[in-house]
Amino acid sequence: MSAQVDISEAKRIVIKIGSALLVDKKTGEVRRPWLETLAEDIARLRARGQEVLVVSSGAIAVGRRHLNLSNSRLRLEESQAAAATGMVRLAHAYQEVLAHHDLTLAQVLITLDDSENRRRYINARNTLETLLRLGAVPLINENDTVATDEIRFGDNDRLAARVAAMISADMLVVLSHMDGLYDRDPTLHPDAVHIALIKGELSPKIVAMAGTGKSAEGSGGMVTKLAAAKIALGAGTCMIIANGTEDYPIRRVEAGGVCTRFVPTANPKTARKQWIAGSLKPNGTVVVDDGALGALKSGKSLLPAGITSIEGEFERGDAIIIEGASGQEVARGLVAYSADDARKIIGYKTSEIENILGYRGRDEMIHRDDLVLN
Ligand code: GLU
Repeated sequence: MSAQVDISEAKRIVIKIGSALLVDKKTGEVRRPWLETLAEDIARLRARGQEVLVVSSGAIAVGRRHLNLSNSRLRLEESQAAAATGMVRLAHAYQEVLAHHDLTLAQVLITLDDSENRRRYINARNTLETLLRLGAVPLINENDTVATDEIRFGDNDRLAARVAAMISADMLVVLSHMDGLYDRDPTLHPDAVHIALIKGELSPKIVAMAGTGKSAEGSGGMVTKLAAAKIALGAGTCMIIANGTEDYPIRRVEAGGVCTRFVPTANPKTARKQWIAGSLKPNGTVVVDDGALGALKSGKSLLPAGITSIEGEFERGDAIIIEGASGQEVARGLVAYSADDARKIIGYKTSEIENILGYRGRDEMIHRDDLVLN
């Protein structure tokens, strides 16, 4: 199956909003009329049955004025303080404009570690999935208040791509003050040529086109946007970079506005399964009985009841091998329990997990979305 290339066809869409769009440079306040048009765009996507997540920058840009931090370069701790002040205001503004359309906002602040450490990755992903299932619009930003230089993304372009990959979104729309990718920096070369479509992967030639362009307000530029595109393409997510300065920024893209589209060769599901099947080093093995084997082959999840033994030491979120009764490898997947806890619940019904472990974990040992048959 190929990837979606149009916003109208996508099921799950991440929209990334750059600081320069959201925050008025002169006053440092949220550009409220513009935000209202974005909320209308989001409501329209939702009415079509599409899931929407927003990754928004602007916490530091909004917050700094309220702490009288007017010097142009903030020290790290000043940025963190500014983010703490600004994020409240940002979330409030988004909540108000979405409430006009009866949409509920949910704030999620994440760190680099949440997307790299598997256990936290699974937690973050499950929370986002649950919010979407319950109909909320997640508003995501980096947890700038606690993230220090060595452990932070620092830019929301890559953060948005990681989020899109994490929840297998089929579309990522990055809105900034740029029309997309040009073969040279268009602010220096008026004859620079716009690139509308990039398929499959980023060649060194394309990477070279990004130069070192930076935006004045946010921390992104074309360099971080291409880094985001690389993550998105690898995850099977289509990414669009478009100029979002004007009102109704999403509608404009849908109506054929100038943008650069990065189209992956695989869809998110295939890309995720390839990643599970290929690039991970399994940390353990579970052996399943014939009943469970049949269930796996018909596309079901692996439940604790069907497991007869466990080898190795693994943590929640690690990749493990699934073997049939005669010792042959039949599948690989990401496990929802640590080896210690898994050993306690194998052979038992899902309804008994809470009694045995003292907490209510996942129903499945390996969810079918996290499982690849050989
Ligand atoms: N997380 C930062 C903020 O909200 C922005 C990072 C970026 O500019 O991409 O202020």
